Amino acid sequence: MSVINEEQILNALGSVKDGKEDIVSAGMISGLQIKDGHVVFAIEVDPARGSKMEPLRKEAEKTVHALDGVLSVSVVLTAETGGSTPNAPAPAQHNPAGTGPDAISMPGVKSIVAVASGKGGVGKSTTSVNLALALAADGLKVGILDADIYGPSVPRMLGVSGEPSSSNGKNLDPMEGHGIKCMSMGFLIEEETPVIWRGPMAQTALQQMMRDINWGDLDILVVDMPPGTGDVQLTMAQQVPLTGSVIVSTPQDIALADARRGLNMFRKVDVPVFGIVENMSYFSCPHCGERSEIFSHGGARAEAKLLSMDFLGEIPLSIDIRETSDGGNPIVVSQPDSDHAKAYRIMAKEVWKKTQASLAKGEAEAPRIVIQ
Ligand code: ADP
Repeated sequence: MSVINEEQILNALGSVKDGKEDIVSAGMISGLQIKDGHVVFAIEVDPARGSKMEPLRKEAEKTVHALDGVLSVSVVLTAETGGSTPNAPAPAQHNPAGTGPDAISMPGVKSIVAVASGKGGVGKSTTSVNLALALAADGLKVGILDADIYGPSVPRMLGVSGEPSSSNGKNLDPMEGHGIKCMSMGFLIEEETPVIWRGPMAQTALQQMMRDINWGDLDILVVDMPPGTGDVQLTMAQQVPLTGSVIVSTPQDIALADARRGLNMFRKVDVPVFGIVENMSYFSCPHCGERSEIFSHGGARAEAKLLSMDFLGEIPLSIDIRETSDGGNPIVVSQPDSDHAKAYRIMAKEVWKKTQASLAKGEAEAPRIVIQ
């Protein structure tokens, strides 16, 4: 496969016209970055024309994608706002997840479950990875999509390093760790990309991950969402045809208030919330086994009851959980007989049961994704 360079991309984009002028001569291209065949750039548009520019964005994306040596393309529309920041993703309308005129199907992927949290650092990725591995331990074909644009940590937790490659020269093959397939936003978005860019880029990157990745046959794809419940997360929840979602929270009140926002977010896009997981629920002393409840343990269970949601389990604050997942050998695979691994296995069984129920209910049709 040939190596693509900036000149070839700009040459190709010279054929994309905005009115009479092409978008390169009009100076509309900015932020072009190329990394190992992955291309990202922005098209600067007048905010007043914002929504009408989507066909242009698509055309630019298609043009670059057709070039030899291009594995993926993320194109975002940005508004020139006096040289300040690119515009945030369009606030999501009330659209059920995964619906829309341009929805495409992912026939090999039977179900998609999002793991979300109201804020960062509550153990969302740790839970996603252990949950995915616990599902695989039950014999399911599992993939994990690390959509956490702010801190993609799933590859590290699965002990996956390097870059994804492409066996057919067009679509990326997911990486594999501990028997599950894995793709991460971290592979598509450069580490140096300013945080403000990440939201808009994530939208197209997410579409690509659903559309252009050779996921093959999967019983379940776990999506590690970016922390929070803002527009970025809402738009993502809307773009991906989710079968259901899991909310991770710590017992502190403040985190629980965030969890409530998470619940509301999924309700807006008609995605069933399978339940809450209380992480760092209590401290289990590695020496004497004594259990101390540092934060007011049990808050998530009470909160779940209050909100008529199911409680999916409590995971203690444990050095073993931290060391194993941060070291690329999550506890479900490295200490499968431990109580902690068992807690994840029970949670996984519950999640799978609810996934099947949701599919049976027709709450999610064959996975589709909105191409905006
Ligand atoms: P998030 O995805 O919510 O930002 P992470 O899963 O990356 O959070 O976890 C943040 C840190 O907390 C990591 O170092 C992780 O190993 C640690 N951690 C997560 N859950 C636990 C737990 N139950 N016990 C101990 N450490 C944990």
